[in-house]
Amino acid sequence: MSIVTLTNVSKTYPPRTREGAEVVAVDDVSLSIEKGDVFGIIGYSGAGKSTLVRLINALEPATSGTITVDGVDITALTERQLRTVRGGIGMIFQQFNLFSSRTVKANIAYPLTLAGWSKPDIEKRVAELLRFVGLADKAKAYPEQLSGGQKQRVGIARALATGPAILLADEATSALDPQTTHEVLDLLQRVNREQGVTIVVITHEMDVIQTIATKVAVMENGRVIEQGDVFDVFSSP
Ligand code: ADP
Ligand code: ADP
Repeated sequence: MSIVTLTNVSKTYPPRTREGAEVVAVDDVSLSIEKGDVFGIIGYSGAGKSTLVRLINALEPATSGTITVDGVDITALTERQLRTVRGGIGMIFQQFNLFSSRTVKANIAYPLTLAGWSKPDIEKRVAELLRFVGLADKAKAYPEQLSGGQKQRVGIARALATGPAILLADEATSALDPQTTHEVLDLLQRVNREQGVTIVVITHEMDVIQTIATKVAVMENGRVIEQGDVFDVFSSP
């Protein structure tokens, strides 16, 4: 079953200067992400990957085309309905985006507080998430006291807190060394296998795709120039 579908989606930004040309950041993209996939989106800087993520996460409207998330056409929703869609999508980032003034526990609790969970439920859920990402002993630490890999594990715990069906990882290992990258990718694989979360991995690193993804779309100049099973796409001449 398809969980994210893009049909002929384009996103155009207006010219930056009066004489400038408009930028077609995403150009007539169609793709289908199946429930349970680890779906990679790979391309060089400027290819349109981040724009695609913001479209899927409904942070920006598409200029044309249709996007469905979990069967719902998000191009036709109100802001209030979009917030519900966003609640079903977890995000992790290259720079982790943790609140530096809050403890690990408070960072993970944050989306649960926003969602109106009770204090005892939050306590229980945060403890469970900390165990899952292997940071049970770091609840009271602050982000600056953690390694990059530990920070990203906090980011993953926070992204999973409310139980989203989809996790979007935007260059999530690009700030990490190769050893730590593999540890984080192992954790993402467990998130996929043990919790059934569909994972979308945006990266410029081929190695990341080959380690974790089952399907891949290759982006260039806003277009998807190739997509399919990782093995087929990267073994074709
Ligand atoms: P990637 O994530 O693959 O590096 P982006 O989606 O960030 O690619 O960018 C795709 C293209 O769209 C680039 O040419 C970029 O300069 C342009 N772009 C991205 N965001 C904006 C924006 N808010 N306004 C204008 N142009 C943008
Ligand atoms: P600090 O208080 O430590 O300066 P900021 O307010 O600058 O933290 O926010 C840190 C980052 O967390 C920001 O980049 C913001 O986009 C991100 N952020 C805010 N709310 C959420 C959330 N619910 N889930 C994930 N990231 C979030």
